[in-house]
Amino acid sequence: MKWARQIHLKSPAELAIMREAGRINAEALAAVRVLLKPGVSTADLNEAAEAVLRKYNCYSPFKGYGHPPFPASITVSINAELVHGIPKKNRKLHEGDIVSVDCGTVLDGFVADSAFTAGVGEISEEARRLLEVTEGALWAGIEKMRVGYRTGDVSAAIQKYVEDFGYHVTREYTGHGVGRQMHEGPQVPNYGKPGTGIRLRPGMTIALEPMVLVGTHETRVLADGWTVVSADGSLTAHFEHTVAVTSGDPLILTVPYFAETSTGLVQ
Ligand code: MG
Ligand code: MG
Repeated sequence: MKWARQIHLKSPAELAIMREAGRINAEALAAVRVLLKPGVSTADLNEAAEAVLRKYNCYSPFKGYGHPPFPASITVSINAELVHGIPKKNRKLHEGDIVSVDCGTVLDGFVADSAFTAGVGEISEEARRLLEVTEGALWAGIEKMRVGYRTGDVSAAIQKYVEDFGYHVTREYTGHGVGRQMHEGPQVPNYGKPGTGIRLRPGMTIALEPMVLVGTHETRVLADGWTVVSADGSLTAHFEHTVAVTSGDPLILTVPYFAETSTGLVQ
């Protein structure tokens, strides 16, 4: 895949705006998470996220994006749906589903982008393991978001983490620079070779987003032009944070609050 989009290094003032966009985005995702119950529609989830964005006079960059224009502010992708599911009034959640929710927030011209996957009620052992592995892969990637590493180190860390558990990473959809636009350089695939790619520099802001499939790396797009599903119908999961490279620890912008952790990461 060709990826020539520009890399924009963010100033501390720009990072502060992105941090606030990320906090609001986390609040929108939290408002969705508490609704993950049987019988709730995926359109209900979209409305909950939009209510939070409206409260802060923000909007989602997803709405109207692409061709055909994406019709909602979040994507909701259930079970074999990997990413880009369209919220609908007649699509209800069921006990045992795993639901990926992706949301973006634009504040003062800067974008934050984050996603999580969570279960509805009791989920299978396989589903629980998939969620743990996919979120673990995101953390493995974040740990490499430091000066001295390259984008290939981040990609390789994500791929190794996932494949060590026997799962698969998508080839067609990738992490990406984010900030002034939803998609900037550098592109950060979920697979790669250590020591290759772009050198990480302070002020880079990248949305890392492991997209993991149980049975195959192959995907297809449904007739709606958006929903990406595993080619074999196997379960999938997706976690994403917008992360800034600093002169020290990686700074995760899409969390509700910052706190020092035992790992030394600031989140
Ligand atoms: Mg996203
Ligand atoms: Mg993204």
